[in-house]
Amino acid sequence: MDFTLPPAIEDVRSRIAAFVEREIMPLEADPASYDAHENIRIDLLDAMRAKARAAGLWCVQLGPESGGLGLGRVGMAACYEAMNRSIFGPAVFNSAAPDDGNMMLLEKVATPAQKTRWLEPIASGAVRSAFVMTEPHPGSGSDPSMMLTRAEKQPDGSYRIYGRKWFITGAEEAAHFILMARTSDDARKGLTAFLFHRDQPGWRILRRIPIMGPEEHGGHCELGFDGLTIPPEDVLMNEGDGLRATQIRLGPARLTHCMRWLGLAKRCVEIARAYAAERQGFGVVLAERESVQMKLGQIAMAIEIGRLLVMKAAWELDRGGLARKEISMAKIQAANTLHQAADIAIQINGARGYSRDTVLEWVYRYARQARLVDGADEVHQMVLNRFLSKEETGFWSWPVAAS
Ligand SMILES: Cc1cc2nc3c(=O)[nH]c(=O)nc-3n(C[C@H](O)[C@H](O)[C@H](O)COP(=O)(O)OP(=O)(O)OC[C@H]3O[C@@H](n4cnc5c(N)ncnc54)[C@H](O)[C@@H]3O)c2cc1C
Repeated sequence: MDFTLPPAIEDVRSRIAAFVEREIMPLEADPASYDAHENIRIDLLDAMRAKARAAGLWCVQLGPESGGLGLGRVGMAACYEAMNRSIFGPAVFNSAAPDDGNMMLLEKVATPAQKTRWLEPIASGAVRSAFVMTEPHPGSGSDPSMMLTRAEKQPDGSYRIYGRKWFITGAEEAAHFILMARTSDDARKGLTAFLFHRDQPGWRILRRIPIMGPEEHGGHCELGFDGLTIPPEDVLMNEGDGLRATQIRLGPARLTHCMRWLGLAKRCVEIARAYAAERQGFGVVLAERESVQMKLGQIAMAIEIGRLLVMKAAWELDRGGLARKEISMAKIQAANTLHQAADIAIQINGARGYSRDTVLEWVYRYARQARLVDGADEVHQMVLNRFLSKEETGFWSWPVAAS
């Protein structure tokens, strides 16, 4: 087993860490840097993005031919964690959701013409994007087979879209959309992925949904489709490949969430340790109390378990596997660890943790979504149990190296 990072990855990781420390942390500490939705102001973000790009720290998730650094999923895991030491980090390096997942999907499955039209502007930072799948009740959420949004094929080969979607991250700011809609009732081939531009008529934002946490740029929106027309060249993959497109996107995209969340969890520990080292009570500093030490030791271990699961899944993806069970385990572990890390850090910080003097309360509110998005905990547990039923004790087998 080799747990070392290749020097080329460590070089990028350490440069990202230094950029975050030098350029982004001071901004994060300044209340004037925030927009009305508790994210970095767009004008500041644009300035920071130009600096990150000039420093060669841009789109680590994409291959060089798509304008990225081509570090593979293992390299991404190391770099994403370093980016999300700051709550502003991923957006600055163009590695925030949902753009990064959309870019990775387009890089993998789009035709050359689709890449030029739809991927390049996202990869250059000229536009933002959104992934449009979830529907309000009684439509599809955890179960994509419940999808109600229809794409009706027209005699000229185009499609007309009718239906409703919600919780579409970034929709208010996005120009490029990847949409899932039903083209038939076939259980496996019933869904199709489409590309559309914000300026096309036949759809609208019904509302920006108010949420408990800070918001990505463009919020989380409810969308109505009333005859949006999509030409055949804007079908992603082929008609009926929507479920496959979703699986191709969601596997790595879930993992990138985990990579970022572990960076945020480490930041919570950093803030907790700093306060525990200086705060006195009943004659000793908090850091000397065994109960505080146990909390920090427990969360350090949970973070490391998450990192190992993420790295194993990333390694599996890099060698061409789907890593479905590894990603499910990583998703549950990282989401719950982030939640727990924010909670423990707030507890150790006392009233200060509940204030807005640190980012802990921001992370705590944000962390609650981690256990829902891209598959709720229970759905991943269900997936894991399916693997267990099928593989039995083989669930835990090690892949054997070629001799
Ligand atoms: C902040 C945020 C951002 C999002 N961004 C996007 C986006 O950009 N694009 C998009 O398409 N969607 C997005 N979503 C939607 C997200 O992917 C869905 O919320 C998620 O897939 C769960 O679907 P649901 O909310 O309909 O939950 P439901 O399917 O209604 O499930 C509700 C609850 O039931 C339980 N449950 C479900 N299935 C099982 C099971 N098999 N066994 C046991 N319990 C179960 C779980 O506890 C689950 O939380 C976002 C959601 C949030 C909160």
